Amino acid sequence: MSRTLEQRLSGRVALVTGSGSGIGRAISIRFASEGAALVINDVDEKTALETRQMIEKLGKKAIVVKADISKSAEVEAMAKEAYEKFGRVDVLVNNAGVSGIPYKLIDLPEKEWDEVMAVNLRGTWLVSKVICKRMLKQEPLKISTLLGKVINISSIAGKTGEQTVGCYSATKAGIIAVTQAMARELGPKITVNAICPGFILTNIYLNKEEVVMAGARIFENIHTVGEIPLKRIGQPEDVANVAAFLASTDSDYMTGQAINICGGIAFH
Ligand code: NAP
Repeated sequence: MSRTLEQRLSGRVALVTGSGSGIGRAISIRFASEGAALVINDVDEKTALETRQMIEKLGKKAIVVKADISKSAEVEAMAKEAYEKFGRVDVLVNNAGVSGIPYKLIDLPEKEWDEVMAVNLRGTWLVSKVICKRMLKQEPLKISTLLGKVINISSIAGKTGEQTVGCYSATKAGIIAVTQAMARELGPKITVNAICPGFILTNIYLNKEEVVMAGARIFENIHTVGEIPLKRIGQPEDVANVAAFLASTDSDYMTGQAINICGGIAFH
């Protein structure tokens, strides 16, 4: 069903990490549809350029900055480029993430733990640290007293501690803690909220052979849709709808929250 979107994000600049695919791409397109200019980040420049093309087709501005969010020099360079190009970042979405290879925690190799931690938790913190320092120095837009907004993509796995993705779950629980701590530290100038998606159809389960199998198992474990009260797997756009709300002034009195978008499969 097509509908005309409000222009709640006109005049805003948004930086979305990992926006070459899946949820990040859907969020970027939704933000552009609501009027924002975009900084598209990904480790994969090719997919990021595809997202840029989609945004340009909407008549909106976007730049691509290739960076690995777990590496501080690359994150600094990304922030520099974004501020040189647009002069500000109003909305930061920490979306980039990896699922890791499924293991029981007692079998998980240290290297695998370190890699998933580095991208999901360290990456979210690093990008927030580097961008929020700059956000705090920028002038507020006329539309709000806030200097910026941060949206962290966590997961319902961060609230439940799922088996065989224990490390991933720990990173996502960590992201909720980072969200709450930063919300306290940065209020009243910047809001920081998290979104906890449930099962969303993206490439995250499809990139590696092992992950394909894990994804299939995860979907089997929940009998695909049977245990989801709303009886369907989520689409990236379901997450983008809520991200757009969190990016807009409609959510100006919300901070430190972790909102589930999961068709009702989790209630905590
Ligand atoms: P996705 O389609 O794989 O998108 C993730 C993107 O992040 C990919 O383009 C990936 O690039 C990029 N990326 C990975 N490591 C990066 C790094 N170090 N620096 C910059 N970019 C990096 O998966 P998705 O499902 O949309 O995931 C987006 C977020 O939602 C993740 O944080 C994920 O944990 C979270 N989430 C997803 C689900 C779900 O069911 N899909 C549920 C809960 C939470 P490559 O493809 O080249 O690695």
